[in-house]
Formats: sequence, C-alpha cells, structure tokens
Amino acid sequence: MTKNVLISGAGIAGPALALALGRHGFGVTVVEVAPHLRTSGFAVDFRGPTHLGVLERLGVLDELRELQTHGSAMSVVDEAGREIFRLPPEFTGGELEVLRSDLSATLMRHSAPTTEYLFGDAITGLTETPDGVHVEFRHAAARTFDIVVGADGMHSAVRRLRFGPEQDFVKHLDYYIAGWAVPTTSTDAQHYGVPGKLASVGAGNAMIVFAAPELPVDLHDLAQQKDLISSVYHGLGWRVPEMLAALRDAPEIYFDSISRVSAPAWTTNRVALLGDAAWGVTLGGMGVGTGLVGAYVLAGELAGGRPLSAYEAHMRPYAGRWQKHAHPGRFLAPRTRHGLWLRNRLFSTALVRKSLLLSTDSFAKDPALPTYA
Ligand SMILES: Cc1cc2nc3c(=O)[nH]c(=O)nc-3n(C[C@H](O)[C@H](O)[C@H](O)COP(=O)(O)OP(=O)(O)OC[C@H]3O[C@@H](n4cnc5c(N)ncnc54)[C@H](O)[C@@H]3O)c2cc1C
Repeated sequence: MTKNVLISGAGIAGPALALALGRHGFGVTVVEVAPHLRTSGFAVDFRGPTHLGVLERLGVLDELRELQTHGSAMSVVDEAGREIFRLPPEFTGGELEVLRSDLSATLMRHSAPTTEYLFGDAITGLTETPDGVHVEFRHAAARTFDIVVGADGMHSAVRRLRFGPEQDFVKHLDYYIAGWAVPTTSTDAQHYGVPGKLASVGAGNAMIVFAAPELPVDLHDLAQQKDLISSVYHGLGWRVPEMLAALRDAPEIYFDSISRVSAPAWTTNRVALLGDAAWGVTLGGMGVGTGLVGAYVLAGELAGGRPLSAYEAHMRPYAGRWQKHAHPGRFLAPRTRHGLWLRNRLFSTALVRKSLLLSTDSFAKDPALPTYA
C-alpha cells in the first residue's frame, strides 16, 4: 500500500525529500506557512562528491549547473572601500554555487508532479498513534498520515509539537542576520565591519550580521525587523545608508537569529526532523548540502522499508561533524576592535586561507553514507 508522507516546510530539505519520495512512489504532501516559495536569501554552495552525487541522483544537477553563479569573491574593505583582504570564489562558492531561491524553485518544480503543495498553511496539532499520525492544520481539514517530517527550519513547528519547546533545542549564538535585495550589479561581495557589526553588499543582495543577546523581536513581523535593523545600523558609513534605503522598500527580508540546533532525538516511530529543524546552524556553511543529503538518506531508508531510526543513525555522524563547531557570527562580525584586527590579519595570510578551505572541503568528502537505487 502507498505510504502517505506529510512534510512541513518548503525550503530546501522539504522539496528535496518530496522529490526523492515521489520517485519511490510515496504519496507526498508539503505544507508551507508562507503564501508562496520564499525568495530571499543569498547564494548557497555545494562541496565534494557527496553533495554533487546527491544532486545528480535527484536529477537536478544539470539544471543547477545552468543556474550557477560561478561563485563570487568576497573582499573585506575599510570605510573608504579599500580592500583589506580577499577570499577567492572557491572559498565562498564551493564547487557549485546557486542562489538559494533558484535551488528551492528547482527542487519544487521537479517534485510538483508527484507532490501536493499546501501554501499559506501550517500544522497546529500532531497525535502519533501506532497506526498513523493524526494532523490538524490551521486551514485545511485534519488528516492522518503514515509519516510526518519536520523540514520547517530552525524554528520548527513539528519539533515543538512532537519533541518539546524550542528553548530546549535552540541555542542563541549571540548574533542576528538579515538579508534583502539591493539594486547592485557587482557579483563580488564586499564586507565592511565595525566591532560587532557587519554590512555586506553583492550580487543584488545586502546582508548584515550583528552581535546582540536574544532580543524580543517577532520573527514574523517585517516592520519590527526593519526598525530594529535601521536603529542598529543608523549612523554607520560606507554603503550602509544605501542599504538602509533599499531596506525601507523591501517587500520581503530574511531575518533570523544566528543559532544552533541540538536535538537529542530526531525521530520517533512516525515523526522525523530533517535539515535545519534537526541540525541547523544559521549560515553554518554546510547546512544546505547536509539538508539535501539528509533528504536523500531519509527517502532511501523509507523506500527500503527501514524505520526512521535508520536514517538518524546514518545522519548523526555526518551532520554532527561540522555542526558543533560552526560559529559564523564570530568570524563575520568579531565583537571587539582587537578581534576585528586579528581576523583581518589572519585572513590576509595565504596559509590560513588555504587551511580553512581544506577543512571545509574535508567535511563534504565523508564517504560513509549509503547509496540507494
Ligand atoms: C528565506 C530563507 C533564506 C535563507 N537564506 C540562506 C542563505 O542565504 N544562506 C544560507 O546558508 N542559508 C540560508 N537559509 C537557510 C538554509 O536554507 C538552510 O540552512 C538549509 O538549506 C536547510 O534547509 P531547510 O529546508 O532545513 O530549512 P529552511 O531553508 O529554513 O526552510 C524551512 C521552510 O519551512 C518553512 N516553515 C517555517 N515554519 C513553518 C511552519 N510552522 N509550517 C510550515 N512551514 C514552515 C519556512 O518558511 C521555510 O520555507 C535561508 C532560509 C530561509 C527560510
């Protein structure tokens, strides 16, 4: 009998899982809280044969190669725009770099023929029994599924409803991040920093990262987020006034705390967490590739008739390798003048840049994952 799977979240991992499960003949429904696929975000990258192999088996590699941005260099500049150091495209762009929105749209398009997408809705209740998971929605009628997967990101509703409150799993890493569209044609990203604040412009996007303890900001309130960003960046030089002007008119922005998810369990008999909901670190660098690998492994294990715990057993060591140590805020926006100086000095050294590149590459080359027909 066809198994019916409900996936919460149409980001990256959700549509990838829908695509893989559809190929294996599952009945798949995806529920996404946003009214349409979210379009904000920057370029994301893939590194190593594991990531590229999964994209190939999902049947999207050639199309993504067509859409690739070819990476962009990242330079850190002073207030007058003079370069302090530069990281080459291989550092920031991996082996294949695409815009997050292009990746999400490609995965959705490939999965659409075998998937029911419900936009503008969300799960409000989950009851797991030995025979199925009874799900209540904000708008749609209640239904029962064989399996429910939470691919609904860092602030996962499935995790909250089935595994416990967010504060048990999500650690704030003392920074916030935001991104929005700006009218710029340069592909290379320029970063300008003062202690505890980064401002960056490149490839049509503005990005900021700033140090702050947990703030009472509503992650669904666009006006509140814009006010907060404007007050934190008010008075800064370089291209910040131009960025803030674009922020005022931005219809959508990406705003989140920089946080790490540590969940002691990702699976029950019938409910699983996938992607950022399970192992996310905001801007952790490997989150997108790992989300796709997780989707592929979860689909492969389910198709082989194995329990969700088999997926967790494969993914724990793979995702855990980079997740524990990732702390992107500290690198992007050191809090003190001395920290900023030290970072700039270190990255001006070719040897440091090379060893960092090698260490991120090695995370992507873990061969210890199964392959599925
Ligand atoms: C708008 C956006 C922009 C991003 N930009 C970048 C970037 O530039 N660089 C980077 O490295 N990472 C970025 N990320 C994070 C990155 O996509 C993930 O780290 C990684 O791809 C793993 O993806 P995921 O599918 O697990 O989570 P996500 O990509 O975060 O997707 C989760 C999805 O679930 C939806 N959702 C949330 N709550 C609910 C709910 N209650 N019910 C239903 N759906 C829900 C969200 O709207 C989102 O579409 C971004 C995430 C988002 C949402």
